[in-house]
Amino acid sequence: MTWKIERNDLSQQELLNLESLFSLANGYIGIRGNFEEGYSEEFVSIRGTYLNAFHDITEITYGEKLYAFPETQQKLVNNIDAQTIDIFIDKEHFSLFEGEVLSYKRVLHLDQGYTERLLHYRTPSGKEVKLQFRRIVSFSVKELFAIEVKIEPVNFNGEVRIVSKVDGDVSNYVNRNDPRVAAGHAKLLSVENIGEKDDIIFVEDKTTNSDLKAACTTKHILNVQGNKSTQIQDKRVEVTYTFELDQPVEFVKYNVYTDTLRHERDLVEKGIEMHGNLSNQSFDQLIQSQKDYLDEFWNVADIKIEGEEKLQEGIRFNLYQLLQSAGRDKYSNIAAKGLSGEGYEGHYFWDTEIYMIPVFLLTKPELAKQLLIYRYSILDGARQRAKEMGHSKGALFPWRTISGSECSAYFPAGTAQYHISADIAYSFIQYYLATKDINFMVEYGAEVLSETARLWMDTGHFYQDEFRIDDVTGPDEYTCLVNNNYYTNVMAKHNLKWAYSVYNQVRKEDPTSFKELSQRLDLTEEEARDWNQAAEKMYLPYDEELGINPQDDTFLKKAVWDFEHTPKEKYPLLLHYHPLTLYRYQVCKQADTVLAHFLLEDEQSFETIKASYDYYEKITTHDSSLSSAIFSIMAAKVGYYEKAYDYFMESARLDLDNTHGNTKDGLHMANMGGTWMSIIHGFGGVRVKESGLSIHPVLPEQWTQYEFTLHYLQRQLRVKVEREQMTVFLEKGDRLDLTVYGKNITLEEGKQYTGETSN
Ligand code: BGC
Repeated sequence: MTWKIERNDLSQQELLNLESLFSLANGYIGIRGNFEEGYSEEFVSIRGTYLNAFHDITEITYGEKLYAFPETQQKLVNNIDAQTIDIFIDKEHFSLFEGEVLSYKRVLHLDQGYTERLLHYRTPSGKEVKLQFRRIVSFSVKELFAIEVKIEPVNFNGEVRIVSKVDGDVSNYVNRNDPRVAAGHAKLLSVENIGEKDDIIFVEDKTTNSDLKAACTTKHILNVQGNKSTQIQDKRVEVTYTFELDQPVEFVKYNVYTDTLRHERDLVEKGIEMHGNLSNQSFDQLIQSQKDYLDEFWNVADIKIEGEEKLQEGIRFNLYQLLQSAGRDKYSNIAAKGLSGEGYEGHYFWDTEIYMIPVFLLTKPELAKQLLIYRYSILDGARQRAKEMGHSKGALFPWRTISGSECSAYFPAGTAQYHISADIAYSFIQYYLATKDINFMVEYGAEVLSETARLWMDTGHFYQDEFRIDDVTGPDEYTCLVNNNYYTNVMAKHNLKWAYSVYNQVRKEDPTSFKELSQRLDLTEEEARDWNQAAEKMYLPYDEELGINPQDDTFLKKAVWDFEHTPKEKYPLLLHYHPLTLYRYQVCKQADTVLAHFLLEDEQSFETIKASYDYYEKITTHDSSLSSAIFSIMAAKVGYYEKAYDYFMESARLDLDNTHGNTKDGLHMANMGGTWMSIIHGFGGVRVKESGLSIHPVLPEQWTQYEFTLHYLQRQLRVKVEREQMTVFLEKGDRLDLTVYGKNITLEEGKQYTGETSN
């Protein structure tokens, strides 16, 4: 049961959410779970096909535009639609909104990587058929999206017509009233080239401004004799098959997507060439390769929880969607909504480094590496942005982007979130700590760390022998443009300290690369020493009276938001109050200082961390889905296990139960990573630091046991936590030192450590 997500609801609201929940993707192609045959007239559907990073450029219009405001932004394009298949049963159009649905269910198979719809259907005039639709977006051939339809006659033999379409006339979804969805620019593509070659139809589209092209080439295979005709229209191609239905029939539609970001040669030719190898693979064979890929993934990524089925479903679903969304080339990353919808316009944020890379780091590090390579590939853009922003040196990564330039039009909660540069640095450091891949550090990390360190040197300044950073925004978007945001300062400190130590390490271990890098970046020892000095002198706000880290210099002096008189309907506050109203109060949208205490826990005493948790919990609304998971982790750390559990529950089924009310716009990817983090870093107490790997698990009361796997320094460890005892088993890899409940242990391959579970 828990490897399947099953639904049968056909209401408007639920179907829209299910379009996101049943979306399929492979890091490159993303297809929303729309019905092949469409909907009824009045139904609003967000029909979506996306290619990761495939974007157009649109103008940003400002009432008042000031210096260095970005003039344009990128927008993920809703791409050529190959989802449509109409079926006519003796001339009656099959639709779930006409005729009678005798039985219906749709299933997402998390272990086999496909979705299916199973139906028993009666046409308005009484003809009955059984239908099965299955679709995959292939993990092994990234360009492939395939649909299979099986039609079985029940009380009817006669003519059936299948009309399969590839449509180049597509638009993006807009909503003027929600800042989390785009307000304008719906039409981004125009058809360039359309036709049929041999038995393959194709549509090639071009963006309006970004000069990108994408093509969809499609081939059909029908397992019975029938008539076939092709209609090539201005913007779409239709292929019609007519045949006699007197036995079960199978129809497969193989769609290959290519685009000019990834494919150099003629896109249509490239697609046609790929079909040569694909269409001799049956649909079952395609599913088998999905399963092989997923077996490997689940072997390291699965978390088994005994005690709650619903929860198990949530965790697996979230991990599955994360795997689907991660970009696997230097052009792409993970959008805030993955490839499941158009919310946040397909932009990449700090969400990746702080909420999603941690998952891959300890399960599938090659994906974490790929995501970091993307950041490296936009480093030049970040250098240029730093210049535009008045810095003499360094790299300022854009708050939201696809191809590398800043896309945020609202700087107080956008560009001002300078912390993204330290978050990226943090992630490079974590990658190093979890892999000890010094070559990667030399080739990519050292440069990113140096350029981000330079940004901090140029942004901050010494005042009374302390290094301070003014006018930035931390993660909490209800408090903007402040001096000495604790989160930013402590992350910048870490960035500076590591930039210095990597400088020394590369000098020692790889003098040739060191020389090349120093020359290329014009780096001197003196500069590196300055980084270290700024790190050592970094000012971290602390309030003696409360014993907490204030979020920034003025935070504690503000009035506390009147939570008691704020009705439920006013949440999320951002949709009901002007930003300035929010900025004037102590009210947090999401974890800020509490998040810093998780990421860099050794910077403060346990007492400060606990008191800060107590303080910020009272004033945090969790209006951002990036919040609950962090509170769960930190509640577990400070010993509030019930609370840890409640926050965790909020995060685990956030999209499956649509608790934020906007799942239709796409899934909340950072939260999905957060669920995994709540278990591994929260209940599991796993930390990866310079001192090595440490584990400190607790077992929530509601569970009888849980089990997870960690990939760390080329080893594979399995951790099982039961009521009385816990075990750590070294499944694969060389001898490893680690700490369990603060005690140093050494494991050999095939051996395990067993201890008492702490409570
Ligand atoms: C959050 C940001 C996040 C963005 C994209 C916003 O609501 O406040 O922290 O990066 O969503 O997920």
